[in-house]
Amino acid sequence: MSLLVVGSVAFDSVETPFGKREKMLGGSASHFSISASFFTNVRVVAVVGGDFGAEERAVFENHRVDMTDLEVIPDGQTFRWFGRYEYDLNVAHTLDTHLNVFAGFQPKLSDGSKGARLVFLGNIQPDLQRDVRQQIPNAELVALDTMNLWIDTTRKSLQKAIEIVDLLIVNDAEARQLTEEPNLIKAARKILSWGPKTLIVKRGEYGAAMFTKDAYFAIPAYPLESVFDPTGAGDTFAGGLMGYLASQETLDEAALRRAMIFGSVMASFNVEEFGTERVQRLTQEEINQRFSEFKRFTNFEEIPFERAVKAAR
Ligand code: AMP
Repeated sequence: MSLLVVGSVAFDSVETPFGKREKMLGGSASHFSISASFFTNVRVVAVVGGDFGAEERAVFENHRVDMTDLEVIPDGQTFRWFGRYEYDLNVAHTLDTHLNVFAGFQPKLSDGSKGARLVFLGNIQPDLQRDVRQQIPNAELVALDTMNLWIDTTRKSLQKAIEIVDLLIVNDAEARQLTEEPNLIKAARKILSWGPKTLIVKRGEYGAAMFTKDAYFAIPAYPLESVFDPTGAGDTFAGGLMGYLASQETLDEAALRRAMIFGSVMASFNVEEFGTERVQRLTQEEINQRFSEFKRFTNFEEIPFERAVKAAR
């Protein structure tokens, strides 16, 4: 088994300026695993209630997402998130959260899961993220995502979790809030000093940037005319990124750069429709096409200054 994700499986109710949906399949682990399934085998560690029905199960099955470690509490209710976006789709407003079965969640990893090569600690309470990290000491690469809620309420535990992972994936507002540092470059340097070898900062419609001790790499977002629902974009990005890495033998900087493009390609599809709808029916051809477009958008010839000046004369 190559890739493991621990996170939320949820029912989301979302309102954007363009429409509204009630009780659709969501959660960090759902968005992540469906996206990653296009690249690799992925197993989900999460908890759901008796209301998680055949329809939701079928979505995971159709993408060969391994549900061995998906705990079901038959007389409980699945975690619910209620959110709203204004015209600035980069900012999610949480209207309500019902923890339900999530309240007593203690991730239990089967022996198969403990052998995962790559692990994504999706957005959940940082104590649980640490607990899972400690159950997989031999993973080659462990990544972590979080949200403002945990920075506000459990900062110390979150920082301890960040100290023991290889890759932190957060958005720019979270990186600033975490470090209390308004300059993103300084914020990145601070986060790298805590332990992770790599930091990836998601910047919504402006793309994403990668920081290591010696390197910097940044890409734009895929230019889209219609963005419908940004929910899960971050997890879909991480799913494409980690899924691609899991399919590679060598996890060097070149692989990380390509992984960022695959992550952005997957996220660009996710936001075109509500929830996981668009990614569910994605084809390899569509992924390839956007990957190539990214290359065209960002590729340029390096020329010496003298040649530019000569051309102007
Ligand atoms: P993002 O990729 O950042 O847009 O994440 C969106 C997903 O996060 C939604 O599908 C929600 O179900 C999930 N979510 C929201 N709040 C929480 C929370 N407190 N704990 C775990 N998952 C959450």
